[in-house]
Amino acid sequence: MYSNANELKDLCDRSGKKIWQVAIEVESEYNETTIDEIRQKIKENIDIMRQACNKTLKKEIPSISGLTSGMAKKIFSYMGKDNAIFSKEILKSVAYSLSCFEVNTSMGKIVAAPTAGSCGILPGCLFMLAEKINAVDDDLINAFITAAAIGTIIEKNATLSGAEGGCQAECGSASAMAAAAMTEMLGGSVEQCLHAGSMAITNVMGQICDPIAGLVEIPCAKRNAIGVVNAILCADMALAGIECFVPFDEVIVAMYEVGKALPATLRETGIGGLAGTPTGVAARRKIFGE
Ligand code: SF4
Repeated sequence: MYSNANELKDLCDRSGKKIWQVAIEVESEYNETTIDEIRQKIKENIDIMRQACNKTLKKEIPSISGLTSGMAKKIFSYMGKDNAIFSKEILKSVAYSLSCFEVNTSMGKIVAAPTAGSCGILPGCLFMLAEKINAVDDDLINAFITAAAIGTIIEKNATLSGAEGGCQAECGSASAMAAAAMTEMLGGSVEQCLHAGSMAITNVMGQICDPIAGLVEIPCAKRNAIGVVNAILCADMALAGIECFVPFDEVIVAMYEVGKALPATLRETGIGGLAGTPTGVAARRKIFGE
């Protein structure tokens, strides 16, 4: 068993195994489930995520509140255009994440990995990368296991909840999970995976949770989009040999401390930040009345 990143790295170093190999063995022992059963469950969740990531790429499905619609479709048809600044792959990753998020806001079926509010980041990154490197489903399952190991460590030592730690804890954690998983998919070492995860959280440290009208919609969708880009950048930085100065375990404790220091108005109450702007308040009134 491991309770932090240092212990996980130790287990990997001693056994010569990757993060996903250690994590699935621990999970199997802890939950008294076979490895095959765990992999099958993950496969089922991947199928749900894949459907969500593709569902609104060509067809708009408005959110229940009516506040947002059609972002995935816009980016999907824009990617690859001559004047697009990001590569087609990065924009495809963003489109996948927005599609998944739009399925969430229209009350469709998603996998909250790690939360519903950040549900687009992990599949958006991993599906794009799997297509880019021709990974098979088994590789994807491994990547999701690595992501889960990182998320578990954050949950144990800090929080994954926007209400408790701000958006840094929700979208920041999802970004860290995706960054570490992509780094491993591309052959990075355990240390590089942890550097990628650390940098992803470091880059959004202090990000508040301020959903307009208290609905997990605005700015959440775009925070999924930037979470994807952040994760890709951090995976690339780690693979290039860039390190995070502060180790992963210390970064997440710092993130938790920052989250607890945020006033309640900036932790999913729908009061401060963008929710408290005249536009945010007007939207809330329009949906819920005075
Ligand atoms: S702003 Fe808050 S509700 Fe929205 S995704 Fe971030 S943590 Fe979740």
